Amino acid sequence: SPTVRLVMFEAADIRDQFPALQRQVNGKPLVYLDNGASAQKPQAVIDAIVHYYGRINSNVHRGVHTLSQRATDAFEATRGKLQRLVNAEFEHEIIYTTGTTGSINLVAHGFRSLLSPGDEVVVSQLEHHSNLVPWQMLAQHTGATLRYIPILADGSLDLDEAQRLINPKTKLLAFNHISNALGTVNPVVKLTEWAHAVGACVVVDGAQGLPHRPVDVQAMGVDFYAGSAHKMYGPTGTGMLYGRTEWLEKLPPYQGGGEMISTVTMAQSTYAGLPFKFEAGTPNIEAVVGWGAALDWMNAIGMDSLMAHESDLMTYGSERLTAIDGLVLFGTAPEKSAVLSFGFADLHPYDLGTLLDQQGIAVRTGQHCTQPIMDRYGIPGTVRASLAAYTTVEHLDALVDGVQKAARMLL
Ligand code: PMP
Repeated sequence: SPTVRLVMFEAADIRDQFPALQRQVNGKPLVYLDNGASAQKPQAVIDAIVHYYGRINSNVHRGVHTLSQRATDAFEATRGKLQRLVNAEFEHEIIYTTGTTGSINLVAHGFRSLLSPGDEVVVSQLEHHSNLVPWQMLAQHTGATLRYIPILADGSLDLDEAQRLINPKTKLLAFNHISNALGTVNPVVKLTEWAHAVGACVVVDGAQGLPHRPVDVQAMGVDFYAGSAHKMYGPTGTGMLYGRTEWLEKLPPYQGGGEMISTVTMAQSTYAGLPFKFEAGTPNIEAVVGWGAALDWMNAIGMDSLMAHESDLMTYGSERLTAIDGLVLFGTAPEKSAVLSFGFADLHPYDLGTLLDQQGIAVRTGQHCTQPIMDRYGIPGTVRASLAAYTTVEHLDALVDGVQKAARMLL
């Protein structure tokens, strides 16, 4: 029978800090296994947002008055925390965006002025649509050619093919740190080395990387790294783009407006320095402040403990799920993060997800914004259980029982 090592913290205690996890759904205690889509928020994050609106609400970077200065301090404090989180060399290398999608679009838009026909952009088949569609749009706009690294049966990237694809015409390589659909952890350093050997820029989608792995952009060597607050116990509507200074200086601004300028006349404008050149308009101040609280919360637990906890649960969950008759687990790469994606040959994932919801179990069903992966396996979608700090063995047991019950009813 599966063995579970002693976890380094009690997920059940952590759970008490999350108000949303205390509720019932369809008369059953909530088993929340949709963390890959968005994680729940601890009380500390909710408190930080309430405190912000109750005590310091004001616009940032604008006024000499006290509240504006306090709002600016709180807003900028998160930038420093993010710099330390990803080990960026400079604080100005952290750009606030609307999320991973916003970050990738910022880079893709900037590259419109840097690519021409004959240039190549390499992505992977493992991408979320937000790290694919912007590159398709860029290719259409510039006449550059889009190529992709295929995935192997276990959900890992075909690295032999990657090495063949990356060539002197490659100007940009974009891939995710961790796949949201299959949980595959990609070899960021190796891919980055290959891309840099031909002078290409490396953009990493870290939406699932930041919540689940330590990130050191300097050790990894990447040029851009994107993330979303809401996947790491923080608020929705905000995210970050790490960019190496030389690349951020090379890229033109994404949007024009207030705060991103140095001087403006009726004829023309000059732009502010980094990071403000990329931060036009009033940002989502409340969310950035809440994100700071989420980062403190994650730091207090520690990434090592989070990873040990998730790894124990992944071993346990994979063993228990694959023991179910007829169940197919998609994504069995040697290095995986907190995602269990599965299905049955004769069962639509939506039907399974609906029956699980009736039992209070929240999973995501469908394509997970990764249609090319589903096409690769010739399936309409999967049921995806994605884990977090507050996930327990009992939740996985509830999932397994729920799946068995649903399969008996539907098959
Ligand atoms: N990339 C990956 C790997 C993701 O999991 C997600 C969110 N599902 C995104 C990009 C997009 O993130 P957001 O919707 O926060 O912009």
